Amino acid sequence: MAIPFIDLKAQQSRIKASIDRRIAKLLEHGTYIMGPEVAELEKTLSSYVGVKHCVSCSSGTDALLMPLMAYGMGPGDVIFTTPFTFIATAEVIAILRAKTVFVDIDERTYNIDPARLEDAVKRYAANPSLGKIRGVIPVDLFGQTPDYDAIKTIADRYGLWVMEDAAQAFGASYKGKKSCSFGDVAATSFFPAKPLGCYGDGGAIFTNSDEMHKALVSIRVHGQGEDKYNNVRVGINGRLDTMQAAILLAKMEIFDEEIGLRNQVADRYSKMLQPKYVTPYVAPDCVSAWAQYSILAENRADAMAKLKAANIPSAVYYPKPLHLQDAFKELGGKKGDFPLSERIAEKIFSIPMHPYLTAEDQAMIVQALMQ
Ligand SMILES: *Cc1c(COP(=O)(O)O)cnc(C)c1O
Repeated sequence: MAIPFIDLKAQQSRIKASIDRRIAKLLEHGTYIMGPEVAELEKTLSSYVGVKHCVSCSSGTDALLMPLMAYGMGPGDVIFTTPFTFIATAEVIAILRAKTVFVDIDERTYNIDPARLEDAVKRYAANPSLGKIRGVIPVDLFGQTPDYDAIKTIADRYGLWVMEDAAQAFGASYKGKKSCSFGDVAATSFFPAKPLGCYGDGGAIFTNSDEMHKALVSIRVHGQGEDKYNNVRVGINGRLDTMQAAILLAKMEIFDEEIGLRNQVADRYSKMLQPKYVTPYVAPDCVSAWAQYSILAENRADAMAKLKAANIPSAVYYPKPLHLQDAFKELGGKKGDFPLSERIAEKIFSIPMHPYLTAEDQAMIVQALMQ
């Protein structure tokens, strides 16, 4: 049997009884929009993360967009982020016509580099004609958080808000605290392939701020005020389906165990693949959620061809940094602007990673890579 890149079937076989029971209950009560499972999920997730409020929503992208809407971001506002991420991170800035300023990554974690962030913020702070500096969106790439203490120090110094893009890192931790608890607000995704995924699109936003929470609840339902037909601001249809909340509640029953299993899988890979490949660096104060297990090869095409010949899937996250994407050509990015992101984008590729990957399958994958 072929080895899948992500095995959602193995997971489903473990939680099938819980899913069936929850879906049956849902079909019984019939509240498909904002049913009781949505509130139950929000309570489960906020207590898991250790943050006061959780607002579930329609996708990870909307989870990033809604806080920016709450902050009132628009033309003239400057937001800093990494170019080595999924398009959605910077897309939401562009949707609101605010300005994205990219900052290159740390060579080992591939996350935004705090020292480079400070340089960029300083440059913009010294020149207000470039726009008003407002916030930073660090990304917890592949499941590992960047150095949030260092980022927070810079943000506080310059009066910036921080929004954590934890789409790939639900279940990760930094200095003993869970991802989605860093910054002023955090966004995650429940796209099926993420560490915590539903059976469709979904996302959630986390914050300790009552004011942010109130704005998000309103924006999620068309900017509603006291009731649905009293609209106090422009919002979106950003709700999570009750059905997806039910699926996520079932998955939360085994989620911590799965994070443990992912870490075992990653440890086994790293032991076997070094030193031929550059394996992921995990900072000593971090636990990764391993959304991806990504390695560097001098000759990536050759390594991926060896996997393909053995019928083993692999993928490239990400082949093109955002400053080189046509979608962002208005920003004037060009080759050479962010050399680390560009170099990593040329060498990186990801191999199968999920909690149920067996040692035997891993040995086969490694054998193909070692040829
Ligand atoms: C997946 C992802 C998103 C978007 O999530 P969707 O649920 O697909 O909208 C945003 N940021 C990052 C870093 C992601 O990996």
